[in-house]
Amino acid sequence: MHLLLVEDERRLAVAVRRVLEEEGHVVDMTGDGADALAQAEAEEYDVIVLDVMLPSMDGYEIARRLRSSGDPTPILMLTARDSIKDRVTGLDAGADDYLVKPFALAELLARIRALGRRNHMGNGAESNVLSVGDLELDLRAREALRDGKRIELTTKEFALLETLMRHPGQVLTRSQLLDLVWSYDLLTESNIVDTYIHYLRNKIDRDFDQKLIRTVRGAGYSIRAS
Ligand code: CA
Repeated sequence: MHLLLVEDERRLAVAVRRVLEEEGHVVDMTGDGADALAQAEAEEYDVIVLDVMLPSMDGYEIARRLRSSGDPTPILMLTARDSIKDRVTGLDAGADDYLVKPFALAELLARIRALGRRNHMGNGAESNVLSVGDLELDLRAREALRDGKRIELTTKEFALLETLMRHPGQVLTRSQLLDLVWSYDLLTESNIVDTYIHYLRNKIDRDFDQKLIRTVRGAGYSIRAS
């Protein structure tokens, strides 16, 4: 998809652009409000990711102006605070969805996929089941099956497994997994990823001869059938 990313927090903008490009999206980026409006009016985007607090014009005003000119491009708004007032203001201004900072990048990717689907209703429907070997992850039912047997996963375990399964055979570093599944702003060296990989292994690999989750020494983790 062709995306416009409007975010003036440089570090966040760069991290978000990187994961979007890794997902195969083409990303235009700006940190200025007036500039964003001009770009959104000049180009056809599939989704606009729009921060609220911006120099020269805020995200609400940009959304309002786009909608009042009849532009239907889906808008995902990024808000700093989770207050009902902010949420209502954003939705009233014409945003289709919103995400409260700080967020997990995988959550952002999921919201963008959903908005993109809504925009292209009927064509290119994405499969709702990911599979690696005899492991299946049903994204709609939120259910994991190994060799036909149902496996109970917590929300974070599910998100971690989904992230690995969206990149089969690809090594994801601890810091990529931390950004994607937890939050982009966790700066601390954390062993939370290793802990959750351990939980996942106990659930999906322990009772099976063929292990799917691989540790790549010094690099990170990947999932693949041998
Ligand atoms: Ca901002």
